[in-house]
Amino acid sequence: MQRILISGASVAGPVLAYWLRRYGFEPTVVERTPALRHGLGGHAVDLFGSGVEVARRMELWAQIHEARTQTTTMSVERHGKRPVTVDIDRLSAGISDRHVEILRGELTKLLYEATRSDVEYVFGDSIATLDDDGDGVDVTFEHAAPRRFDLVIGADGMHSTVRRLVFGPEEAVRRHLGGYLAVYSMPDLFALQDRMLVHVSVDRMVSTYGVHQTGQARAAFLFRTATELPYDYRDREQQRRIVADAFGEYGWTVPRLLEHLAAADDFYFDAISQITLDSWQRGRVGLVGDAGFCPGPAIGGGTSLAAVTAYVLAGELAAARSDLPSGLRNYERKVREFVDLSRAAAPKVMKSVIPGSATAVRLVPWATAMLVRLPTPVQKLVWAQNGVGKALGSLPLPNYSDLIRTP
Ligand SMILES: Cc1cc2nc3c(=O)[nH]c(=O)nc-3n(C[C@H](O)[C@H](O)[C@H](O)COP(=O)(O)OP(=O)(O)OC[C@H]3O[C@@H](n4cnc5c(N)ncnc54)[C@H](O)[C@@H]3O)c2cc1C
Repeated sequence: MQRILISGASVAGPVLAYWLRRYGFEPTVVERTPALRHGLGGHAVDLFGSGVEVARRMELWAQIHEARTQTTTMSVERHGKRPVTVDIDRLSAGISDRHVEILRGELTKLLYEATRSDVEYVFGDSIATLDDDGDGVDVTFEHAAPRRFDLVIGADGMHSTVRRLVFGPEEAVRRHLGGYLAVYSMPDLFALQDRMLVHVSVDRMVSTYGVHQTGQARAAFLFRTATELPYDYRDREQQRRIVADAFGEYGWTVPRLLEHLAAADDFYFDAISQITLDSWQRGRVGLVGDAGFCPGPAIGGGTSLAAVTAYVLAGELAAARSDLPSGLRNYERKVREFVDLSRAAAPKVMKSVIPGSATAVRLVPWATAMLVRLPTPVQKLVWAQNGVGKALGSLPLPNYSDLIRTP
């Protein structure tokens, strides 16, 4: 049986492992965190269109839908104006009749549960070196003994180790879009439960929403700066100061949100950047999901992109079977347009999420209120014209069912 090593157990990694197993490969997943990063901390992500279809083909749709976030209303506000409140189900119906928002950790947990019985998972380790000699790849790990695989796939996210080892340093392929993103959990001070509050001003956006599974709330801060901020990605205290400085004078409910910044143990901060590699395969090593082509966190449909590209990658490897490098090349050809469209759309989404002018700030609540009033078919039309909507709808999922070898 051909052995395939996957680095990363979040979305792309487990989806890939699931399908490889069905096609008769022997996947091993190595994950840096000591235990699965599942659960109710972290951020909410979306599955749309083809991403939902992948979940259906994995027979996980009902469970994913059951575990969804269940936010029902959103109030959008700007300084000095009354909030505009909309019904999120009305908005979602227009985005796609197949859309779900779920905490990333919950999605990962379901994907892990669907694969753990027949896929080898190694937690608390990372690939240290890779040596591709054309017939296979010799891999050393930070902890485990060296092993040899027929193929290695990096599904290890925006700051991928596999990409650094084989395709070069991150700085050369990372394009900062000018924005920053911070998220953390906190007590539900405003009894939000199933509500989300959003506040926009020039170059700033804050939101807070209830998490029904924990009774807690989450605060999210997005902002833009004229020049790139220098910071150490390991230094959480420095990152907390950056957020506090960016929103210190903001007003609204922000001072109360910031009171919980220091204590949050799931604090996340990163620059909103894209990975701009134009090829994500080299010999017997490939990349999938954010590791290969992150469109930018929270703005480019990265979760659907990860699920769909992992599904196609597994199918193309199965179709190529004895010639895995050609399977990698075929995968790249099949998903290129889909990836390019998502990456092209994401900067425009960032501009609308973090409005860059007073006019844009006025438009956000108005456009939200207008969109929700449109009949669902017209909303769908609007969504289909939106770049991410167009991108996520652009790849009809291939059918690889005749390649399945195990039930
Ligand atoms: C705050 C935030 C909000 C977001 N909001 C949305 C949203 O609303 N909608 C949406 O669609 N997407 C959203 N995203 C993006 C989404 O989370 C990603 O696009 C998606 O998770 C990509 O999945 P992935 O499996 O490719 O990579 P990731 O989810 O990044 O997973 C990578 C995995 O690899 C592991 N890893 C890293 N390094 C190593 C290593 N050296 N060895 C082994 N394992 C390693 C990590 O621990 C992790 O488990 C958001 C992201 C963030 C950060």
